[in-house]
Order: sequence, then structure tokens, then C-alpha cells
Amino acid sequence: MIYDLPLDDLIEYFEKINEKKFRASQVFEWLYKKRISNFDEMTNIKKELLDKLKSNFTLPRFNVIERLVSSDGTTKYLFELDDKNTIEAVLMKYQWGNSLCVTTQVGCNIGCSFCASGLLGKYRDLTVGEIVLQVLQVEEIEDLRVSNIVIMGIGEPFDNYDNTMKAINIMNHPKGLEIGARHISVSTSGLVPKIYDFADEPFQVNLAISLHATTDELRDELMKINKTYNLEELIKACKDYIAKTNRRVTFEYILLKGVNDSAAHANQLSNLIRGLNAYVNLIPYNEVSEFEFKRTDKKKALEFYDIIKKRGINVTLRQEKGIDIFAACGQLRSKSM
Ligand code: SAH
Ligand code: SF4
Repeated sequence: MIYDLPLDDLIEYFEKINEKKFRASQVFEWLYKKRISNFDEMTNIKKELLDKLKSNFTLPRFNVIERLVSSDGTTKYLFELDDKNTIEAVLMKYQWGNSLCVTTQVGCNIGCSFCASGLLGKYRDLTVGEIVLQVLQVEEIEDLRVSNIVIMGIGEPFDNYDNTMKAINIMNHPKGLEIGARHISVSTSGLVPKIYDFADEPFQVNLAISLHATTDELRDELMKINKTYNLEELIKACKDYIAKTNRRVTFEYILLKGVNDSAAHANQLSNLIRGLNAYVNLIPYNEVSEFEFKRTDKKKALEFYDIIKKRGINVTLRQEKGIDIFAACGQLRSKSM
């Protein structure tokens, strides 16, 4: 599909077919500024070139299998891809704008023990266009603009690194979706070599790390990726990333009742990230019927929050959104299979 190509790749293609570079920019703007859904709407492009584009690329839309609106306005989409696989995107509305959570893979191979997305393993990576089209299509369906993107849907973005980076390029590009890099966040379970690669990327996109445990023993159990890249290597990569980019890192920490939510855990967490330019985002667990894990009660979550706050670390306790529509990543998809 034509959404697979960032502007530089489109220019390269145009040069190959002996077309002028500026034509590629024109086509790109038709796609992302004027939001056309049919090649024939590109009125300043000559027929011969249009025919070439039509024979080489598709300009698709996903089939919308489900659109679920939660009582708090959170909306979840189940999209069907060309090959009948399904993916999810979740739109969250805040006072300050609209945030969309996008998917990067069909399933996930990391297999964290609390996560519905990992249940079925990874079937395939999404293409660049399949990542970008989630944003375009939600904006089209709802007739609004998405101001923030969180790359935290189904899949491990750093296990589909190149496509995710190209999708970010299109989202961020002035001639593309033009969403500020600081309004885009990508979350990883901790693929350490890719954190180093990410530090070298030219854009100022936010990095979030799914931490969820403060000892190797527990993290090995919750996230088996920890057996490949342990906490020491992960924290070192974050330190190096912060030093190189001057950017802050977010640590995500799901509170799991009786597993990682004691006062001792809160202190360990504070010790682990002390001195880093980082902040902690505490996440209420969305229970998944296939797993035993339970959500920490509100009172206990606030106690955990207070301990970290008192230690001088920036911390937020995430609002619960869309619980009634299975908003946790992968939950809707796994229910539909
Ligand atoms: N694979 C990446 C990004 C997608 S998951 C990663 O793991 O970071 C995005 C976030 O949702 C992660 O922090 C993940 O741990 C969390 N998550 C997964 N299942 C959840 C659930 N049932 N409830 C709350 N958060 C969940
Ligand atoms: Fe994959 Fe992230 Fe879910 Fe772990 S939490 S299984 S890395 S999607």
C-alpha cells in the first residue's frame, strides 16, 4: 500500500520511474494533508502517473470489525487487515487532546505472563502503512485530529523496529501527519540493543520502558525477556540513552496485587532508578480472564505512589480508562478468536 512509504522512499520510487521529486511531495500531501481515499482525487497529477501509481500501490482502508465506546468515551477499534488478521487501536479523549494507542504486530512473541497480546504468539509484523493507517482511519471515522500517539498497542515495537521507525517518520513529518515528536511515545519491554539504536534516531520521540519488577527474580517470572536482557543491562541502556539524548525516560509499572505492590517494592523501585532523569507511570492492571493476576486496590496503589513521591521521584498513577470495553492491549483481539 502507498502508506508504506515515507517521503524519502516515495521520492526514490519517483526517481526510478523518471518522475520529478516534487511530484512525490505532491502525492504525499494528497495522502496526509488532504486525506484522499482514491487516487483519482489527486487532481494535479497527470493521468499517466496516476495509472502507474494505481498499478503499483493500493490505497486501502481497514474493515472495521468492531467499534466499542466505553462509558468514559474511550473507543476501541478492531480492524481487519488484508489477510484477515485483526488488530486493535484505542482512542482516549482527554481535556488536552486525543491520544491514540496503536498496534505494531499481529500478536507478540515476548509472552509476558500478564498480557493478553502474548497469548497467541506473533503471527507477523505490521507494515509501515498498517501502523500509519490506524491513525488516519480513526481520524476519518471520528472526524477529529489525534494529537498524541502512544505506540503501546499489540506487539513489541522494537521487535518490528524498522517499520515502526518509518511509521514514526510519517506521523512526525511536516508533510505527513505532522504530530510533534514530543507527542509520540514508544514503549518497549526492554530489547536492550534496540534502545541503543533508538538513542541514535534523529527525532525527539519519548521512550517508555515496561519495568514491572525490581528484581531479576520477579522480572524473569513476569517478563521472560529479562532472561535475555536483565535489569542491570536494561538500566544501563536507559542511563546511556538519557546521557546521549538528554531526554527523560518513562518507566511503566503495572501494579499487580500481592506480586509487586508492597512498600518494599516501592522502595526498591525508587532505589533502582534514583538519580536518573526518569519518571514512573504506575498502571492499574486490566484483569485478563486467562490469568490469575489481580489489580491492586486503589488505597494500596496510592500508598505505593506516596512512597515513590516522597523519595523525590516524579510519578503518576494512570487513570483507568475503558475497563468496560476490554481496553487492555490484545484483550479484544483474543476474545474475537
Ligand atoms: N510491547 C510493548 C508495548 C505494548 S504493551 C511493551 O511491553 O512495552 C504496552 C503496555 O501495556 C506495557 O507496559 C504492558 O506491560 C502493558 N500491559 C499489558 N497488558 C496489560 C494489562 N492487562 N493491563 C495493564 N497494562 C498492560
Ligand atoms: Fe508483548 Fe508488551 Fe504484551 Fe509483553 S506486554 S507480551 S512485550 S505486548
